[in-house]
Amino acid sequence: MDLVLNVADRYVLTPYVYPASWPEDGALRQILSLLVVTNLGAAILYLGLGAISYFFIFDHDLMKHPHFLENQVLREIKYAMTSLPWISVPTVALFFAEVRGYSKLYDNVGDSPLGWPGLFLSMISFLLFTDMCIYWIHRFLHHKLIYKLFHKPHHIWKIPTPFASHAFHPVDGFLQGLPYHIYPFLFPLHKVLYLLLYVFVNIWTISIHDGDYRVPDTLTSVINGSAHHTDHHLFFDYNYGQYFTLWDRLGGSYRHPSALMGKGPLEVVRRLQAEGKLSGRGKTKEHASGHTQNGRKDE
Ligand SMILES: [Zn+2]
Ligand SMILES: [Zn+2]
Repeated sequence: MDLVLNVADRYVLTPYVYPASWPEDGALRQILSLLVVTNLGAAILYLGLGAISYFFIFDHDLMKHPHFLENQVLREIKYAMTSLPWISVPTVALFFAEVRGYSKLYDNVGDSPLGWPGLFLSMISFLLFTDMCIYWIHRFLHHKLIYKLFHKPHHIWKIPTPFASHAFHPVDGFLQGLPYHIYPFLFPLHKVLYLLLYVFVNIWTISIHDGDYRVPDTLTSVINGSAHHTDHHLFFDYNYGQYFTLWDRLGGSYRHPSALMGKGPLEVVRRLQAEGKLSGRGKTKEHASGHTQNGRKDE
């Protein structure tokens, strides 16, 4: 984060925001700056990438699904934007430790013991490490004693949109993001690569909520894509993973995505449309008349 902080100091904060008497490396100034940069960065990534995905990738027919909620997109955005500032507080504590030099982040490729191959290896190990940690944290959040406290709000969205990607309770959001922040304290990592991975992580998180269920055939059993994560939202205790299906397979929680077997949410919408069971606003006629859908697992 010191790279981002340096740019912010140079072009905005030092000339325009802070009094000249505040040194750039003062602790309070660094914490305040990190809070601003982290919140702005998270909001821009979430809203910007979320909007691109929502308008250009997300299939809006999914909004006709009986489990799609009233005003859901607005509710997802509101929930995420309320949680992000809270998530940023402990996150900034970790960024501050990193800026003060307590992490293993390095500036130059020459600092990597293995040079460029070292960078490539650290990218792989970052993905494997965070995938493993998120799997177990996510499973822990599903424990019956914990679930209702922190993780349930993310499961309100049975048919998520890209804006559900960051719609977490603050504790849930921080815990699931923790592996990304812990990694550079445990393993060496290039600073620029860390920033790129941070952006990638945000893109991926949005992508598994974007309703684009396509995965190359050869990768369906390896990659945890939107089809896999949609089944997590629909059927609850399957496909906890983030990038890969590895830990779901090892942990016995893998479920082959219903969307890839022609039984996904879009097929449900098309069947209801063909049967004339969808009312004008996308709700089923049963819903519109006050009856609830069966076969839905809420917890
Ligand atoms: Zn979950
Ligand atoms: Zn989700």
